Amino acid sequence: MTEHQRVITEVAVAGGGMVGAALACGLAQQGFDVTVIDSRMPPEFDAGQPPDLRISAIGVASVDLLRTLAVWPLVASMRAYPYNRLETWEWESARLTFDADSLGLPVLGYMVENNVLQRALWQRLDQLRVKVLAPASVAQLSRHEPGWLLTLADGSQLQARLVIAADGANSRVRQLAGIGIQGWQYAQSCMLINVKCEQSPGMATWQQFTPEGPRALLPLSDNWASLVWYDAPARLRQLQAMTMPQLAKEIQQAFPARLGKVTPQAAGSFPLVRRHARRYVLPGLALVGDAAHTINPLAGQGVNLGYRDVNALIEVLCDARDCAEHWDSESVLKRYERRRRYDNLLMQTSMDLFYLAFSNRSAPLRVARNLGLLAAGHSGMLKRQALKYALGL
Ligand SMILES: Cc1cc2nc3c(=O)[nH]c(=O)nc-3n(C[C@H](O)[C@H](O)[C@H](O)COP(=O)(O)OP(=O)(O)OC[C@H]3O[C@@H](n4cnc5c(N)ncnc54)[C@H](O)[C@@H]3O)c2cc1C
Repeated sequence: MTEHQRVITEVAVAGGGMVGAALACGLAQQGFDVTVIDSRMPPEFDAGQPPDLRISAIGVASVDLLRTLAVWPLVASMRAYPYNRLETWEWESARLTFDADSLGLPVLGYMVENNVLQRALWQRLDQLRVKVLAPASVAQLSRHEPGWLLTLADGSQLQARLVIAADGANSRVRQLAGIGIQGWQYAQSCMLINVKCEQSPGMATWQQFTPEGPRALLPLSDNWASLVWYDAPARLRQLQAMTMPQLAKEIQQAFPARLGKVTPQAAGSFPLVRRHARRYVLPGLALVGDAAHTINPLAGQGVNLGYRDVNALIEVLCDARDCAEHWDSESVLKRYERRRRYDNLLMQTSMDLFYLAFSNRSAPLRVARNLGLLAAGHSGMLKRQALKYALGL
């Protein structure tokens, strides 16, 4: 684009990640004129390549959204791994198990590589002929009634009635719009390790709580699995500096015996930060996904919450347009905020309660939390409700 070109669009989506690209597909499918801006292109898919380090557990409600967007067949034609059971425990005797069967479902969801999901969404954007500006990043934002003017890093400009901030946890658009956040960094960080297993990891995903932090397994195909190791940042830095054979020894000691023998192939660690934007909307501007909220990933809910935002925002905008309302007005966008803010806060708080209860070494609390798991495991109704909530059903 030349310096003086100005693109005019109805909706500008800043950030074509897993959430922003899904929203762009949904709005384009509903007839909105959408432009996506992203600072990087997703890598091409190569079936011969090992799995991406970033894996997301995508629940059935999110899969339904991706089916509606005609994206799921594209994901499935690359790689996705179903899981039908979820197990969590601290003491072996107080194990909590959730089965797809209990809800009459064939699977609880799929493990999907982040790169694969983003690539599938971009293929769909292409099919829908959505304008994608990439690599391009948002540098400035100013009010341009009735919408906004975005200036990109190369100096080109984009004029939009509605700007969507979907540019992730450190959202530049959120900052440029002057929207603050509340939040904190957890005392634990998280290390993701792709391993080859000697035995097939099966279709169950599991998580063992330890006072240092959870240890989890996400099963993938071809005997691949993703291990998630939560621990103090200093401990993870130590692990990160090790060779793969050294790391393999540490894994055997830190993970439960059911893991069996594994060979680590790649690892990376991430700080864990809770953030919640003080508001989700301004006139002609809305935040979605990690730009609006980040949570402790111990129940793998980040993208799933983002997809609940996407569903809500598409519905609110379409309803307003059908009623000939100004769909980009603050009063309309506030309906989206009202629908999503409490639900996101509830999930953040639930994750924090788990985090606080299980990171504590106090003996009475240890007994109490294991009794809690035991009781929950024996309450069919409570278990089914918790599972439905986590799956977004
Ligand atoms: C360790 C870990 C494990 C997780 N596991 C799970 C899980 O199992 N299940 C789950 O549901 N969630 C999980 N999450 C959370 C999940 O990864 C996030 O919720 C999800 O990535 C949010 O998607 P997003 O599209 O909102 O943001 P992002 O994925 O961050 O995408 C943002 C996009 O914006 C682009 N961008 C950034 N800045 C700019 C700019 N200035 N201009 C233009 N473009 C820009 C980026 O290139 C990117 O494409 C996990 C998170 C972590 C840290």
